Amino acid sequence: MKKLNLCIDIDGTVTEPYYWLDRANRYFDRQLKPEDITAYEIHKMLDIEEDDYHEFYDLYGKLLHRESKARFGASEAIQGLYHRHRIHFVTAREERMRETSIEWLARHQMPMDSISLLGSHYKVEKARELSSDLFIEDCHGNALQLAQAGFEVLLIDCSYNKGPLPQNVTRVKTWSEIRMIADMKAQLIKTVS
Ligand SMILES: [Mg+2]
Repeated sequence: MKKLNLCIDIDGTVTEPYYWLDRANRYFDRQLKPEDITAYEIHKMLDIEEDDYHEFYDLYGKLLHRESKARFGASEAIQGLYHRHRIHFVTAREERMRETSIEWLARHQMPMDSISLLGSHYKVEKARELSSDLFIEDCHGNALQLAQAGFEVLLIDCSYNKGPLPQNVTRVKTWSEIRMIADMKAQLIKTVS
Protein backbone atom coordinates (compact mmCIF):
# COMPACT_ATOMS: atom_id res chain seq x y z
CA MET A 1 0.00 0.00 0.00
CA LYS A 2 1.33 3.44 -0.92
CA LYS A 3 1.95 5.77 1.99
CA LEU A 4 -0.25 8.76 1.27
CA ASN A 5 0.31 12.36 2.31
CA LEU A 6 -2.95 13.30 3.99
CA CYS A 7 -3.41 17.03 4.55
CA ILE A 8 -6.06 17.71 7.16
CA ASP A 9 -7.66 21.00 8.10
CA ILE A 10 -8.43 21.47 11.81
CA ASP A 11 -11.45 23.74 12.46
CA GLY A 12 -14.71 22.13 11.43
CA THR A 13 -12.83 19.14 10.04
CA VAL A 14 -11.40 17.41 13.12
CA THR A 15 -13.13 19.78 15.55
CA GLU A 16 -16.87 20.05 15.79
CA PRO A 17 -17.88 22.75 13.24
CA TYR A 18 -19.88 25.10 15.52
CA TYR A 19 -17.35 25.38 18.36
CA TRP A 20 -17.55 29.21 18.23
CA LEU A 21 -21.33 29.50 18.18
CA ASP A 22 -22.32 29.57 21.88
CA ARG A 23 -19.75 32.14 22.90
CA ALA A 24 -20.35 34.27 19.81
CA ASN A 25 -24.12 34.21 20.45
CA ARG A 26 -23.55 35.42 23.98
CA TYR A 27 -20.96 38.04 23.06
CA PHE A 28 -22.92 39.52 20.12
CA ASP A 29 -26.36 38.89 21.61
CA ARG A 30 -27.53 36.53 18.88
CA GLN A 31 -29.54 33.29 18.92
CA LEU A 32 -28.10 31.47 15.96
CA LYS A 33 -28.40 27.71 15.70
CA PRO A 34 -26.09 25.38 13.76
CA GLU A 35 -28.62 25.03 10.93
CA ASP A 36 -28.66 28.83 10.51
CA ILE A 37 -24.99 28.83 9.54
CA THR A 38 -25.17 28.77 5.77
CA ALA A 39 -21.94 30.60 4.93
CA TYR A 40 -18.33 30.10 5.94
CA GLU A 41 -17.72 33.74 6.91
CA ILE A 42 -18.73 33.87 10.56
CA HIS A 43 -19.05 37.68 10.68
CA LYS A 44 -21.64 37.58 7.88
CA MET A 45 -23.67 35.01 9.78
CA LEU A 46 -23.55 37.17 12.91
CA ASP A 47 -24.33 40.28 10.85
CA ILE A 48 -21.34 42.17 12.26
CA GLU A 49 -18.20 43.80 10.87
CA GLU A 50 -15.25 41.51 10.25
CA ASP A 51 -13.15 43.63 12.67
CA ASP A 52 -15.67 43.01 15.45
CA TYR A 53 -15.29 39.30 14.97
CA HIS A 54 -11.49 39.67 15.09
CA GLU A 55 -11.82 41.52 18.37
CA PHE A 56 -13.93 38.70 19.77
CA TYR A 57 -11.46 36.13 18.43
CA ASP A 58 -8.52 37.98 20.00
CA LEU A 59 -10.27 37.74 23.35
CA TYR A 60 -11.66 34.21 23.13
CA GLY A 61 -9.79 32.44 20.30
CA LYS A 62 -7.49 30.35 22.48
CA LEU A 63 -10.31 29.42 24.80
CA LEU A 64 -12.58 28.51 21.86
CA HIS A 65 -9.91 26.26 20.39
CA ARG A 66 -9.09 24.72 23.75
CA GLU A 67 -12.69 23.86 24.61
CA SER A 68 -13.83 22.79 21.14
CA LYS A 69 -14.99 19.21 20.85
CA ALA A 70 -13.66 16.67 18.38
CA ARG A 71 -15.82 15.50 15.53
CA PHE A 72 -17.30 12.08 16.03
CA GLY A 73 -14.86 9.37 14.93
CA ALA A 74 -12.04 11.75 13.95
CA SER A 75 -9.60 10.57 16.59
CA GLU A 76 -10.09 6.85 15.86
CA ALA A 77 -9.85 7.41 12.10
CA ILE A 78 -6.66 9.48 12.35
CA GLN A 79 -5.05 6.96 14.68
CA GLY A 80 -5.80 4.23 12.14
CA LEU A 81 -4.59 6.29 9.19
CA TYR A 82 -1.40 7.35 10.99
CA HIS A 83 -0.14 3.75 10.96
CA ARG A 84 -0.27 3.59 7.17
CA HIS A 85 0.02 7.19 5.93
CA ARG A 86 1.47 10.59 6.77
CA ILE A 87 -0.75 12.99 8.68
CA HIS A 88 -0.16 16.70 8.02
CA PHE A 89 -2.43 19.19 9.74
CA VAL A 90 -2.79 22.34 7.62
CA THR A 91 -4.76 25.13 9.25
CA ALA A 92 -5.52 28.78 8.58
CA ARG A 93 -5.01 29.44 12.30
CA GLU A 94 -2.21 31.86 13.08
CA GLU A 95 1.19 30.86 14.41
CA ARG A 96 0.25 32.16 17.89
CA MET A 97 -2.20 29.23 18.11
CA ARG A 98 0.55 26.62 17.69
CA GLU A 99 0.79 25.49 21.30
CA THR A 100 -2.97 25.52 21.82
CA SER A 101 -3.39 23.48 18.64
CA ILE A 102 -0.70 20.92 19.43
CA GLU A 103 -1.99 20.51 22.96
CA TRP A 104 -5.58 19.96 21.72
CA LEU A 105 -4.53 17.42 19.09
CA ALA A 106 -2.49 15.50 21.68
CA ARG A 107 -5.33 15.58 24.21
CA HIS A 108 -7.72 14.21 21.59
CA GLN A 109 -5.20 11.56 20.56
CA MET A 110 -4.72 12.67 16.99
CA PRO A 111 -1.14 11.75 16.05
CA MET A 112 0.65 13.66 13.29
CA ASP A 113 3.79 14.00 11.22
CA SER A 114 3.55 17.76 10.89
CA ILE A 115 1.42 20.81 11.55
CA SER A 116 1.38 24.05 9.52
CA LEU A 117 -0.33 27.19 10.77
CA LEU A 118 -0.65 29.37 7.71
CA GLY A 119 -2.43 32.44 9.05
CA SER A 120 -4.24 32.47 5.70
CA HIS A 121 -6.93 30.49 3.91
CA TYR A 122 -4.67 29.98 0.89
CA LYS A 123 -3.53 26.36 1.20
CA VAL A 124 -2.42 25.49 -2.34
CA GLU A 125 1.28 26.20 -1.83
CA LYS A 126 1.43 24.09 1.34
CA ALA A 127 -0.42 21.27 -0.42
CA ARG A 128 2.28 21.36 -3.13
CA GLU A 129 5.09 21.45 -0.59
CA LEU A 130 3.66 18.42 1.20
CA SER A 131 2.79 16.58 -2.05
CA SER A 132 -0.77 16.19 -0.85
CA ASP A 133 -2.50 13.03 -2.09
CA LEU A 134 -5.76 13.85 -0.34
CA PHE A 135 -6.80 17.10 1.33
CA ILE A 136 -9.56 16.96 3.92
CA GLU A 137 -11.47 20.22 4.37
CA ASP A 138 -14.75 21.74 5.51
CA CYS A 139 -14.41 25.04 3.61
CA HIS A 140 -16.09 25.08 0.20
CA GLY A 141 -13.86 27.90 -1.07
CA ASN A 142 -10.66 26.12 -0.03
CA ALA A 143 -11.89 22.91 -1.61
CA LEU A 144 -12.53 24.62 -4.95
CA GLN A 145 -9.19 26.40 -4.86
CA LEU A 146 -7.29 23.18 -4.10
CA ALA A 147 -9.24 21.27 -6.73
CA GLN A 148 -8.47 23.90 -9.32
CA ALA A 149 -4.76 23.48 -8.55
CA GLY A 150 -5.16 19.75 -9.26
CA PHE A 151 -5.49 18.33 -5.75
CA GLU A 152 -8.02 15.73 -4.72
CA VAL A 153 -10.21 16.93 -1.86
CA LEU A 154 -12.65 15.33 0.56
CA LEU A 155 -15.16 17.92 1.78
CA ILE A 156 -16.76 17.03 5.08
CA ASP A 157 -20.44 17.90 4.88
CA CYS A 158 -21.69 20.95 6.86
CA SER A 159 -24.57 23.43 6.67
CA TYR A 160 -22.14 26.09 5.33
CA ASN A 161 -20.47 24.17 2.52
CA LYS A 162 -23.39 23.13 0.33
CA GLY A 163 -23.22 23.78 -3.39
CA PRO A 164 -21.96 22.05 -6.51
CA LEU A 165 -18.51 20.45 -6.49
CA PRO A 166 -16.00 19.76 -9.25
CA GLN A 167 -15.00 16.22 -10.13
CA ASN A 168 -11.98 15.97 -7.81
CA VAL A 169 -13.92 17.04 -4.71
CA THR A 170 -15.95 14.37 -2.94
CA ARG A 171 -18.50 15.20 -0.28
CA VAL A 172 -18.20 12.90 2.74
CA LYS A 173 -20.32 12.65 5.87
CA THR A 174 -18.18 10.81 8.39
CA TRP A 175 -14.61 10.14 9.42
CA SER A 176 -15.03 6.41 8.86
CA GLU A 177 -15.89 7.21 5.23
CA ILE A 178 -12.71 9.35 4.97
CA ARG A 179 -10.64 6.51 6.37
CA MET A 180 -12.12 4.05 3.89
CA ILE A 181 -11.57 6.35 0.89
CA ALA A 182 -7.93 7.05 1.87
CA ASP A 183 -7.12 3.36 2.23
CA MET A 184 -8.89 2.52 -1.01
CA LYS A 185 -6.93 5.22 -2.84
CA ALA A 186 -3.65 3.90 -1.45
CA GLN A 187 -4.55 0.38 -2.53
CA LEU A 188 -5.50 1.59 -6.00
CA ILE A 189 -2.21 3.46 -6.49
CA LYS A 190 -0.32 0.31 -5.53
CA THR A 191 -2.34 -1.84 -7.94
CA VAL A 192 -1.85 0.61 -10.81
CA SER A 193 1.88 1.15 -10.32
MG1 LIG B 1 -11.93 24.45 8.56
